[in-house]
Order: sequence, then structure tokens, then C-alpha cells
Amino acid sequence: MIHTTDNHGAGESAVKDMMTVHHRSGESAVKSMTTDNHGCGENFVQAQKKASFISRTEAEQWIPEDGTRFDVIVAGGGPAGIGAALASAHKGAKTLLLEAKGFFGGVAATSLWMPMNRMRLNGGSRGGVHDRIIKKLEQYGADAYLEGKTSWVDGDGLHIHPEYLRGAIFELLEESGCHYRLYSPIVGAKTENGVLKAAVVQTKSGLAEFEANVFVDCTGDGDLSFYAGAETRTGREGDGSLMPITLGFALANVDTVRLFEFYNGPDCGPVLRRILEEAAAEGFSCADWYSFDRTTIPGVASVNHGGLKGIGILDATKARDHTIAERTGITLALDFVKIARTKGIPGLEQCHLMRVGGNVGVRETRRVIGKYVLTIEDAIHGTEFPDVIARRYGAVDVAGLQEDKDYKQLMKSGYAYPYRGLLPVGVERLLVAGRCGSYTHLGMAAGKSMGNMIALGQAAGIAAAFSSQLGVTPGVLDPKVVQDFLVQWGVTL
Ligand SMILES: Cc1cc2nc3c(=O)[nH]c(=O)nc-3n(C[C@H](O)[C@H](O)[C@H](O)COP(=O)(O)OP(=O)(O)OC[C@H]3O[C@@H](n4cnc5c(N)ncnc54)[C@H](O)[C@@H]3O)c2cc1C
Repeated sequence: MIHTTDNHGAGESAVKDMMTVHHRSGESAVKSMTTDNHGCGENFVQAQKKASFISRTEAEQWIPEDGTRFDVIVAGGGPAGIGAALASAHKGAKTLLLEAKGFFGGVAATSLWMPMNRMRLNGGSRGGVHDRIIKKLEQYGADAYLEGKTSWVDGDGLHIHPEYLRGAIFELLEESGCHYRLYSPIVGAKTENGVLKAAVVQTKSGLAEFEANVFVDCTGDGDLSFYAGAETRTGREGDGSLMPITLGFALANVDTVRLFEFYNGPDCGPVLRRILEEAAAEGFSCADWYSFDRTTIPGVASVNHGGLKGIGILDATKARDHTIAERTGITLALDFVKIARTKGIPGLEQCHLMRVGGNVGVRETRRVIGKYVLTIEDAIHGTEFPDVIARRYGAVDVAGLQEDKDYKQLMKSGYAYPYRGLLPVGVERLLVAGRCGSYTHLGMAAGKSMGNMIALGQAAGIAAAFSSQLGVTPGVLDPKVVQDFLVQWGVTL
């Protein structure tokens, strides 16, 4: 059993004791802002020399017609789905990745350079899909990503240019022989006696069905499991609280040196709190908290936040709530620029709104009840399981939920996730991975960074491929074959 015990955090939001501001960019991140990491070095020149023409014929071989049958279908192309699809195809299964939106990446693509944390292990390799993604980004050169910190709260992350990420995922899927389709939201499931037979997809010409031997639900919202009749839970036990929904945005014309000096300095908390209190009193939309990230582009910074202050619970599986999040999110972004300029946030005095994410980022909705439900106690005590198939590194990250903040430092980094957690109760031929996995509310928050989600998806993808190839349902598959395969692929279990 090999895993780190450093408790280096996965913290997406870097909640600093619930102050208004989050600090996430330390000295190591400052160091990574060297000019040669911004497209001016040899790496950049090399990357520019390589052409990458793709013809229609080359593209369409990967994109199936309605009704094509597969060994494995992965639903949802966020971090978990990418892990599952790449792993399943790597194991040799004929695999299809179905995505609702017009791009892959999920939150990683919409959250604009926010670090994909836990892509490495203490700066080293995590093996498997993680290494393949990093290698692909390295091929693009310094335009594509900036190393993040290896530190306690955020760690082992990469600030990835969202468009390079989108390109990288297509190339990785094709290189792995994985079929894919965008604009294919799963809106239903066909089951027979509790066995999942087909995913029902909405197209502009009507409904289409895709059959497979095994399915992996990585929709984040547990859609496929929900439609197939699996049991789900939403929100914090007791009061139904959900982590905030955020429309991230990027600012241009930023004096990044001054911004990050301020952000990492002792005055940031009190100064920003005062500015935001004033702004709120003057009628501006303000978020509960803000945090800033570096990007690959000089003079551009990325902004994460805790959603409109006082907005209450928003559940993104309800279209009304989801729309409220978009509506308030855009005003938050527009108002932040006015606040930053008029109140003179250091480094942001002359900033411009460059872009917002393609859509809001959703942290938490349905969780699917599996054959094991991971709890915060498992994360704190580091419960070991004989059927461990992934480890979650970092910290408990509740993205600003006040009542949960004391859990942040308690997680045992590298705690185990059992194979049984991938198996929804009551539905056969289905696995579930990612943020809609089998946890309690705080169990989910314990190590929810993207690198850990890839690890869960990766294990589910390998299990799905084995199940299909051996002709057994995931429920009776011996997890040992998954473990052995992962270890051979360089994964630390
Ligand atoms: C605002 C925000 C900031 C964050 N910041 C960080 C950070 O800095 N670092 C970090 O490591 N983690 C961060 N996180 C956490 C991390 O992003 C999530 O835990 C992770 O993205 C979850 O991965 P996932 O693949 O399970 O879900 P998602 O990323 O939500 O991906 C789900 C995918 O499924 C697709 N989908 C949904 N429904 C369907 C359907 N019915 N049919 C087909 N496709 C469907 C979606 O379009 C999406 O592509 C952040 C999260 C948010 C929301």
C-alpha cells in the first residue's frame, strides 16, 4: 500500500478560514510566471513548427451514427469521463464518450485556467491517464499550461488554457481509438429487469439510442444512473445545502505582478473585505468570496468565486435554479470589473473582462448510492479497503460552506476509494464515477479536485472494459484485475 501522507491540499477554493478572499497563489506559483513560460521560449517555437491538419474524413471516423453499438459507453466528458473513456479504450474496449455540450472537459474547460489539481503526486507521476494528459499538453508547449503549486491547499495542479485542453482531449481520444460525440445529452435510459441496456440521447432530429455491454455514468449530476432508476441523494444531510455554483471569468490587462503580490500579502483579506462591503452597500453584486489564478497569457488572470452572496441553495438539476445561477453569475462578473477599477484593487485598476466560462460550473448535485458510500470519517481516518481502486489526495474542499469549514484540514491525503463505490445499487451493467459518485456530502468534498476525479473515472473505465471483455457484469468482476492493471499502468494504489 503506497500513498502519501503529506496532507497537501486539493483545495479548489482554498477557503482561508472563511475570509472573504481566498489565497491560492504562493511563491511557487510566482516563480512559474517566468517569461519563458509564456510563449517566448524555445518550447514555444518548437510547438509552433508542428502543423496539425485534420480532415473531415479523419474526424468523422470517430463520430458514430445514431444507434451504433459499443462495448463501453461513457456518459459525460468532464474530468471523470475523460479518465473513464481514455482508460476503457486503452484497455481495448470499443468505447464511446457521449457529451451534452459542444466541448469536452467539463468544469476543467469552463473554469478558465483554474488548476486541475492533483494531476501529479508531490510533483511526480500519477501514472495512467494523468501522465497521458500531461504529455499531450507538453507537446503543445508553453502556450498550453502553467505548472501550479505543490502545496498544502492547492497542489500538483496545472493551469491549463481551456482551448488547448479542448484540443488535447480530442487528440487523446483519437490516439486511444476512442469514439466520441458532442451535442448528445443523455435524457433517458432503457433497462430490463434492472439491467441497463441503452442510453437515450436527445438530438435535433429526435431521440437516439446507444446500446453497450457496460455504461459508466460520469455526468456529474448522475443523470444516467437517475434515469436508470438508481437511488440518489442531493445536498448536505439534514439541510440540503449545496456548494455554490460559479460562473468563472478571466480578466485582461491585469498587472499580474502587483495583483499576486497583493493577493499573497497580509493586507489582502481586510482590504478586499472592506472594498466588497462598500461595493455591496452601493448596490453592486458581490460574491461570498473571490480567488485569483494565474494563466498562460501575460496580463490575464482568472477569477473564481463563491456565487452571489446570500443567494441560498441552487440545485443545477433544476433548470430554474440553473438559470438563476447563470443570470446572477454574469452580473457578478460585470460588476466585479467595475468594483476592481473604481475601488482600485491592486493590479486590477485597468482590467477588462476578457471572457466568462462557457457556462456556470456546478460543484455538487446528485450523488448516486453505490455498494459502499464513502463518508468523511473514511477520509479522516484513511479507511483502507481491500478493493481500493483509486486514492484521493488533498484536503476537504467545501467551496465556502460556512458550517463545513472546520473539516478542511482533517482529511488524510491519499485515502482509499473502494471498487464498490463505483457500483450503483440496483442497476446492473452500470458504473458511476466523478462528483456524482457514492459519497456523503462531506465525503464528496474530501478530495474533489479534478485529478482525483480522473482517477475514479480511470478505474471505472478499466473495470467497464474488463467486464465487457470477460462477459461479466461489473458487480461480479473481481476488482483484483482492475487493481493489477492500474498498478501496471503506473498508478499508485
Ligand atoms: C467553479 C468550480 C471551480 C473549481 N475549481 C477547481 C480547481 O481549481 N481545481 C480542481 O482540481 N477542482 C476544482 N473544482 C472541482 C472539480 O472541477 C470537479 O470536482 C470536477 O470537475 C468533477 O468532475 P466530473 O467529471 O465528475 O464532473 P464535471 O466536471 O461536472 O463534468 C461532467 C460532464 O458531463 C456532461 N454532462 C452532464 N450531463 C450530461 C448528460 N445528461 N449527457 C451527457 N453529458 C452530460 C457535462 O457537460 C460535463 O462535461 C471546481 C469546481 C467548480 C464547479
